Amino acid sequence: MSDPNQKARIQFNKLQKRLRHYVGDAIADYNMIEAGDKVMVCLSGGKDSYTMLDVLVGLQKTAPIDFDIIAVNLDQKQPGFPEHVLPEYLQALGVPYHIIEKDTYSVVKRVIPEGKTTCGLCSRLRRGTLYGYAEANGITKIALGHHRDDILETFFLNIFYGGKLKAMPPKLLSDDKKNIIIRPLAYCREKDIERFSAFKNFPIIPCNLCGSQENLQRNAMKAMLKGWDKQFPGRLETIFTSLQNAAPSQLADRQLFDFVGLTRGIGDDVNETVQLCGSKTIDVNGLNVLTQF
Ligand code: SF4
Repeated sequence: MSDPNQKARIQFNKLQKRLRHYVGDAIADYNMIEAGDKVMVCLSGGKDSYTMLDVLVGLQKTAPIDFDIIAVNLDQKQPGFPEHVLPEYLQALGVPYHIIEKDTYSVVKRVIPEGKTTCGLCSRLRRGTLYGYAEANGITKIALGHHRDDILETFFLNIFYGGKLKAMPPKLLSDDKKNIIIRPLAYCREKDIERFSAFKNFPIIPCNLCGSQENLQRNAMKAMLKGWDKQFPGRLETIFTSLQNAAPSQLADRQLFDFVGLTRGIGDDVNETVQLCGSKTIDVNGLNVLTQF
């Protein structure tokens, strides 16, 4: 194919199809969006949230169910925040939107000592404000733009620094049980989102206008995962699949599996003993073999 424009168009169509496919699958697998939902798409102005909004608006047109979308941005009053960019973009797209203005920037600057990373408090304040808006405005789902690589980074951060086997779920009930958070990009690769965003030429607003230091630990996880992806293609897909295939009886968490109450099979005539969850013992030529399911 000699026409470079045509080649680029074909590549873009393939990429868009893949992203829509992944988002559609995640929505179906986790029942993220139901008929009548009012979905608040949290738009920061970064590549991930622009991509999420674009894909959801596309899916909304073809979905067999009706649901509403409202794009919401929190203007945190960071110095140099280009206030006109998102309203102009959203008006051109024809999507209902709302900009919340709240100076969380000053709070963060006041509370966090100079030189310390501010992202933790900033994110908490942002989350609280967005949840509050959702509650007050009949929002039934809050959509966040985290993708598969964010989920994997969080997974390894929790293992390496938190001593916890946990990641970022595709769907979550907030701690106060008042909001349901969904992550429609949960199956999407960051490199696809990067390419999609470049193709679409989204008017990106950088997150670090606040001048915050980068999160070094997260960056280290990102670099580790990128290295693996290059060296062992398919490894990240396998790790993500493992998050969907947990076997509590093969870990060591006594809250998840009743190791203490574990007993042998019930009777001599029972050749197949189903244990509490995740595993069963089967009879193979007179041998008891433990298998996973
Ligand atoms: S980089 Fe700045 S605006 Fe972005 S999360 Fe961190 S503190 Fe908040």
